[in-house]
Amino acid sequence: MINSAATNSYAEINEYIKKVLSLIEKDKVTKDEADWVIRETVDNFREHVNPGFLDYRKTVTKDTQFAAVEWSDSGSTFTDVSGKKYIDCLGGFGIYNVGHRNPKVMKAVMDQLNRQALHSQDLLDPLRAMLAKILADITPGDLKYSFFVNSGTESVEAALKLAKAYSDRTTFISTTRAFHGKSLGSLSATAKAVFRKPFLPLINGFRHVPYGDIEMMRKTMESCALVGEDVAAVILEPIQGEGGVILPPDGYLQQVRELCDEFGALLIFDEVQTGMGRTGKMFAADLYGVVPDILCLAKAFGGGIMPAGAVVAKEKVFKSWFANPFIHTTTFGGNPLACAAAIATFNVLIEENLPKRAAEVGAYLLDKLQKVAADFPDKVMEVRGKGLLIGIEFHTDQIGFDVSKGMFDNGVLVAGTLINSKTFRIEPPLTISYEEVDTVVETLIRVLKSVKV
Ligand SMILES: *Cc1c(COP(=O)(O)O)cnc(C)c1O
Repeated sequence: MINSAATNSYAEINEYIKKVLSLIEKDKVTKDEADWVIRETVDNFREHVNPGFLDYRKTVTKDTQFAAVEWSDSGSTFTDVSGKKYIDCLGGFGIYNVGHRNPKVMKAVMDQLNRQALHSQDLLDPLRAMLAKILADITPGDLKYSFFVNSGTESVEAALKLAKAYSDRTTFISTTRAFHGKSLGSLSATAKAVFRKPFLPLINGFRHVPYGDIEMMRKTMESCALVGEDVAAVILEPIQGEGGVILPPDGYLQQVRELCDEFGALLIFDEVQTGMGRTGKMFAADLYGVVPDILCLAKAFGGGIMPAGAVVAKEKVFKSWFANPFIHTTTFGGNPLACAAAIATFNVLIEENLPKRAAEVGAYLLDKLQKVAADFPDKVMEVRGKGLLIGIEFHTDQIGFDVSKGMFDNGVLVAGTLINSKTFRIEPPLTISYEEVDTVVETLIRVLKSVKV
């Protein structure tokens, strides 16, 4: 390939830029413009993003004649550039707890944007301080100090470093089917072979034990202590999300907490997906009455507007970073726009009682889905979940993909791609209406009828 900067003049490149900018500022696009957007998107994915996506996404037909290209969103729905509307039951894998472009979150972010976007990096920034106080008050137990980041994987990286700094130990216990992110540290805790294998060896000292098996965790903890490799921390998702919505067995999280205390290990809850009201309480830690030493947040933390995350820790743990606050930093973490978004997000969650709503609407939806599952036992294996984090497990990947594709064609987005569809997640905005929920269930029934075993 010839470097395009060598063949195109800056003036030509700028013509293209101006065309894109003019589209961004438009309220509505014409049919011709929509066709151009679709063509450019598909071509540029193929040539400059990654052609693999065109094979794996259910939104693209085989010959790429048709491709759904997203353009706008609002509430529980988004709309493609051709004007077709979809109910969003994927929810960005848990980003849109307060809905798409929640007006209160948008207002806070825009007000902040009109005053100051990013921080000086030297003066004390007020919203960071205020958000940290809000987190200390709203998170369970004596979690007290916050470090802000831009993503889930970064919150896990910070948690792992905190645990190492606090304990002077280097062993971590994670669980099978866990997902904690894909940067090299968090990937060490993540369990899926396909994501890890090409990048081995990862960070030293990670052991994976079966999720839900407290005896195995005890034995591992004991063995590690016996060989002089004491465990710094156990890292867990209270409910496994990416693993397929796996609920903890009764008493499991409490038992893990006690085991950690017995062996002097810290407990890290990765609530990047289960936090912010998703499971029917503000945090899944509240749901199970277990207080971790370190809590990881991201995804919905930015209110579906800003990329934002946090790691919140007890003082005894966070204290290891007091002497040198520069020991772990990120330029953009905790920027004023992100903090404004997170603060407004908590306001919406509280004022609109969204955790409770997740519990109620979630119970309604779970009940309906379980009835549907019972009517299609040759296709659906199980439906399970808490709040509005629900998983539907099919007998095969193919059935899952066909259902997921069928739902999409009928205007409902659920997770599930060609390579990973056996269990798909339903995690809509917590603001989803009962009417929309009914539409989702009716669509599922219609699609299940038409899908072949
Ligand atoms: C999504 C997710 C992550 C990673 O978050 P990114 O923002 O994609 O890096 C980590 N942990 C859990 C539990 C997640 O669901």
